Amino acid sequence: DKGLSKTKESVFGKIARAIAGKSKVDDEVLDNLEEVLITSDVGVETTLKIIKRIEKRVAQDKYVNTDELNGILREEIAALLTENNTVDAESFNIPEGKAPYVIMVVGVNGVGKTTTIGKLAYQFKKAGKSVYLGAADTFRAAAVEQLMIWGERVGVPVIKQKMGSDPASVAFDTLSSAVANHADVVIIDTAGRLHNKIGLMNELTKIKNVMQKVVPDAPHEVLLVLDGSTGQNAFEQAKQFTLATEVNAMAITKLDGTAKGGVVIGISDQFKIPVKYIGLGEGMEDLQIFRRREFVDSLFG
Ligand code: GDP
Repeated sequence: DKGLSKTKESVFGKIARAIAGKSKVDDEVLDNLEEVLITSDVGVETTLKIIKRIEKRVAQDKYVNTDELNGILREEIAALLTENNTVDAESFNIPEGKAPYVIMVVGVNGVGKTTTIGKLAYQFKKAGKSVYLGAADTFRAAAVEQLMIWGERVGVPVIKQKMGSDPASVAFDTLSSAVANHADVVIIDTAGRLHNKIGLMNELTKIKNVMQKVVPDAPHEVLLVLDGSTGQNAFEQAKQFTLATEVNAMAITKLDGTAKGGVVIGISDQFKIPVKYIGLGEGMEDLQIFRRREFVDSLFG
């Protein structure tokens, strides 16, 4: 896979190097492996968990060679990855009776939120669904403009108001239009301001409450977008956003440009929230459904 090649080369290459010339898993191999995982942004906690499990297997099986280590690592990593199973994401089908299916997208500025929304709109539209976008990041003119550009590119309506207007009001308008026009999917962009935890929480709660006046079980999905190339920052953002609102899906972007796909493993393990999509470029098509087997294969080549 072209998109994940950097991730693959790096993690697999590093693991290969860490165990090169070794016939059996010993302390030195485990130390090297630990270093590879940490430098691949897996995170200390998850890395130690993986190393501990491998130590246990090595102790159990008495003798484990480095080929077997690869297989064990794959199994252990796959077990830590949480796949999405709430929606038939593969065909972009929405659950029965859930139209309009409302996705509220959260994340800090610059992580690829708008781009991910555009790519999602494209995929849903390609799957024959009608889509409405809501420009509820009313704090940045650029955010609204970017969303408008994506709306035009994909051919879906974007509901907006003037700058500085109430984000909840934009969300309300978007859901109202979507319902009136029997739309299948609504995707709401939100402001990515993290400067004030209580502020963020209040803002997202207000948007949710107002949306529920139109669609009582909205939002069906709170999708947190994280930049996969930012390592510890992505962990910190996941922490802040999961405290502020009930995130139930994640999209991890820019995995095409990073040699450190390990962030997906650590975040998935620590937050137990399904990774639903991965971003692999700036284009419309550069969004993939996250499948853990495929992902693990891509790490190990
Ligand atoms: P937002 O501020 O979170 O809405 O971020 P944008 O969607 O505007 O994206 C910020 C920058 O990251 C833009 O230049 C995007 O083209 C780029 N970007 C977004 N997703 C990806 C991705 O998966 N891969 C790469 N290489 N670039 C991306």
